[in-house]
Amino acid sequence: MNAAPLSASKKCPHCGQWSAHQQQPDDRCEHCHELLDPQGPAKQAEMEQAWKWELPPAMLIPIHPTDPWWLRGPKYLVRGGQLLFAATVSFVIWLVTALAG
Ligand SMILES: [Zn+2]
Repeated sequence: MNAAPLSASKKCPHCGQWSAHQQQPDDRCEHCHELLDPQGPAKQAEMEQAWKWELPPAMLIPIHPTDPWWLRGPKYLVRGGQLLFAATVSFVIWLVTALAG
Protein backbone atom coordinates (compact mmCIF):
# COMPACT_ATOMS: atom_id res chain seq x y z
CA MET A 1 0.00 0.00 0.00
CA ASN A 2 1.43 3.33 -1.05
CA ALA A 3 1.43 5.82 1.84
CA ALA A 4 1.66 8.84 -0.45
CA PRO A 5 -1.59 10.72 -0.95
CA LEU A 6 -3.45 9.81 -4.12
CA SER A 7 -3.23 13.35 -5.42
CA ALA A 8 0.57 13.23 -5.36
CA SER A 9 0.77 10.71 -8.15
CA LYS A 10 -1.08 10.15 -11.36
CA LYS A 11 -1.07 7.33 -13.82
CA CYS A 12 0.45 8.51 -17.06
CA PRO A 13 -2.04 8.07 -19.91
CA HIS A 14 0.83 7.59 -22.34
CA CYS A 15 3.05 4.93 -20.80
CA GLY A 16 0.85 3.67 -17.92
CA GLN A 17 3.48 4.38 -15.26
CA TRP A 18 2.67 6.22 -12.03
CA SER A 19 4.31 9.59 -11.91
CA ALA A 20 4.55 12.43 -9.36
CA HIS A 21 1.83 14.97 -9.90
CA GLN A 22 2.11 18.55 -8.62
CA GLN A 23 -1.52 19.42 -9.49
CA GLN A 24 -0.20 21.65 -12.24
CA PRO A 25 -1.89 21.63 -15.66
CA ASP A 26 1.44 21.15 -17.40
CA ASP A 27 2.86 18.38 -15.20
CA ARG A 28 4.82 15.91 -17.24
CA CYS A 29 5.42 12.19 -16.77
CA GLU A 30 8.72 11.28 -15.13
CA HIS A 31 9.08 8.34 -17.47
CA CYS A 32 8.06 9.46 -20.97
CA HIS A 33 7.85 13.25 -20.41
CA GLU A 34 4.39 13.47 -21.93
CA LEU A 35 1.72 15.65 -20.33
CA LEU A 36 0.04 13.81 -17.45
CA ASP A 37 -3.16 15.66 -18.28
CA PRO A 38 -3.31 16.22 -22.04
CA GLN A 39 -6.26 18.60 -21.55
CA GLY A 40 -4.51 20.44 -18.69
CA PRO A 41 -3.13 23.51 -20.50
CA ALA A 42 -6.36 23.99 -22.48
CA LYS A 43 -8.42 23.75 -19.29
CA GLN A 44 -6.11 26.20 -17.56
CA ALA A 45 -6.46 28.71 -20.41
CA GLU A 46 -10.24 28.33 -20.26
CA MET A 47 -10.28 29.07 -16.51
CA GLU A 48 -8.10 32.13 -16.96
CA GLN A 49 -10.36 33.32 -19.73
CA ALA A 50 -13.34 32.97 -17.40
CA TRP A 51 -11.64 35.02 -14.69
CA LYS A 52 -10.69 37.74 -17.13
CA TRP A 53 -14.28 38.25 -18.23
CA GLU A 54 -15.02 41.88 -17.64
CA LEU A 55 -17.89 44.21 -18.07
CA PRO A 56 -17.36 46.11 -21.32
CA PRO A 57 -16.62 49.75 -20.43
CA ALA A 58 -19.42 50.83 -22.77
CA MET A 59 -21.90 49.14 -20.40
CA LEU A 60 -20.80 51.27 -17.46
CA ILE A 61 -22.81 54.35 -16.74
CA PRO A 62 -20.79 57.37 -17.93
CA ILE A 63 -19.71 59.84 -15.26
CA HIS A 64 -18.72 63.19 -16.69
CA PRO A 65 -16.39 65.55 -14.83
CA THR A 66 -18.92 68.26 -15.60
CA ASP A 67 -21.74 66.43 -13.78
CA PRO A 68 -22.90 68.22 -10.65
CA TRP A 69 -22.08 66.52 -7.34
CA TRP A 70 -25.69 65.47 -6.71
CA LEU A 71 -25.67 63.59 -10.02
CA ARG A 72 -22.20 62.06 -9.60
CA GLY A 73 -23.05 60.51 -6.20
CA PRO A 74 -25.90 58.30 -7.45
CA LYS A 75 -23.95 57.51 -10.64
CA TYR A 76 -21.02 56.21 -8.58
CA LEU A 77 -23.45 54.06 -6.63
CA VAL A 78 -24.92 52.62 -9.84
CA ARG A 79 -21.41 52.01 -11.20
CA GLY A 80 -20.42 50.26 -7.98
CA GLY A 81 -23.47 48.03 -8.36
CA GLN A 82 -22.55 47.30 -11.96
CA LEU A 83 -18.99 46.33 -11.00
CA LEU A 84 -20.29 44.13 -8.20
CA PHE A 85 -22.64 42.49 -10.70
CA ALA A 86 -19.76 41.97 -13.15
CA ALA A 87 -17.65 40.38 -10.42
CA THR A 88 -20.52 38.06 -9.49
CA VAL A 89 -21.07 37.05 -13.12
CA SER A 90 -17.33 36.43 -13.52
CA PHE A 91 -17.38 34.20 -10.48
CA VAL A 92 -20.41 32.24 -11.70
CA ILE A 93 -18.80 31.76 -15.13
CA TRP A 94 -15.62 30.61 -13.45
CA LEU A 95 -17.57 28.23 -11.20
CA VAL A 96 -19.46 26.74 -14.14
CA THR A 97 -16.20 26.34 -16.08
CA ALA A 98 -14.53 24.73 -13.07
CA LEU A 99 -17.42 22.32 -12.49
CA ALA A 100 -17.70 21.47 -16.20
CA GLY A 101 -13.94 20.85 -16.34
ZN1 LIG B 1 4.52 8.42 -19.22
